[in-house]
Amino acid sequence: MSLSVKPNPQLAKLPVYQPGRPTEEVARELGLNAKDIIKLASNENPLGPSPKAMTAMRDAIDHLHLYPDGNAFYLKRRLADKLELTPGHLVLGNGSNEIIEFAGHAFMGPGADVVVSQYCFAIYPIVGQLFGSNIITVPARDLAHDLDAMLRAITPATRVVFVANPNNPTGTLAAPEAVERFIEQVPANVLVVMDEAYFEFLENPLDLLPRICAGRNTNLLIMRTFSKIFGLAGLRLGYGIGNPELISALEKIRQPFNINSIVQAGALAALDDEDHLEKTRSNNSAGLDYFNGELSRLGLEYVPSSANFVLAKVGDGARVFSELQKRGVITRPMAGYQLPEWIRFSVGTDAENQRCIAALEDVLKS
Ligand code: PMP
Repeated sequence: MSLSVKPNPQLAKLPVYQPGRPTEEVARELGLNAKDIIKLASNENPLGPSPKAMTAMRDAIDHLHLYPDGNAFYLKRRLADKLELTPGHLVLGNGSNEIIEFAGHAFMGPGADVVVSQYCFAIYPIVGQLFGSNIITVPARDLAHDLDAMLRAITPATRVVFVANPNNPTGTLAAPEAVERFIEQVPANVLVVMDEAYFEFLENPLDLLPRICAGRNTNLLIMRTFSKIFGLAGLRLGYGIGNPELISALEKIRQPFNINSIVQAGALAALDDEDHLEKTRSNNSAGLDYFNGELSRLGLEYVPSSANFVLAKVGDGARVFSELQKRGVITRPMAGYQLPEWIRFSVGTDAENQRCIAALEDVLKS
């Protein structure tokens, strides 16, 4: 190594997260017009942010010479009201990715094992390794989390266990009884991170908040985000919900101004725009129905999804991804998740979904 300063040794083997490819990057690379490209790669809201959020954010631009409110007082208070808990139960992150990192600072390190599922969201093992933890990966069952096996994988060295429900990239949802049983049985000294990034898309979600409000599970940290149904992915806002003592520990790690003032205003307005949330939900369920029908028609295996994306088995995933991209449709190849025959695509608008399927059909014929 020619570098005279030596980075911490775990960085040498740390995998790099491969995000969905930005439209402009694909346009530059393939000589396409960015306007002709659709991105169905990162599970964003195809309807965009709430119009009420847009107005609030435009107003916030007038005050950008001032630091944001470091405690996000109004946003936290409104969010707490909505969730029927207190601001002390909430910690805000620069995306829920940052909450994962807070968990790393607080609970991970050499000798502290982290339990995850096969096909879990890629950031969990990356953050675990970043902090020098040992990652225990539990085989999935039918592409979904095997919660009983994850329980059995917990040892005295385990400090954190991650469950995404619904899971990304599979879209699978664990049965409510299985989740309850799991939370009951995880030893009290192990942090359970329940990642609910896609929670708002569920019709009858299991509500774990009463456990936290009642002080029953002080080892439970729930994560949610404004990147998905709220359509604010570009501004980075996620949050953790937990026992106030757990939250105070995470608050010590948080940088004072990690939540910018534009997203504080936007999220506050978005929270109350039920109309936009409802439109997004109905666009999503219509899109999932469409994809399920079309994938069956094309004879392709897919995983029934509880989120806003679909995982489909297309054969040579890398080829199909790259051919779709040439046709102006950005999806997500899955080889990095050990699913080389699969691609994942997000639910878009009706027109985007139809374009995605037409392009897929064309690629499969070629
Ligand atoms: N958890 C899951 C399961 C996700 O799919 C994502 C986004 N892809 C995140 C967390 C992170 O979302 P964000 O940082 O944008 O809040």
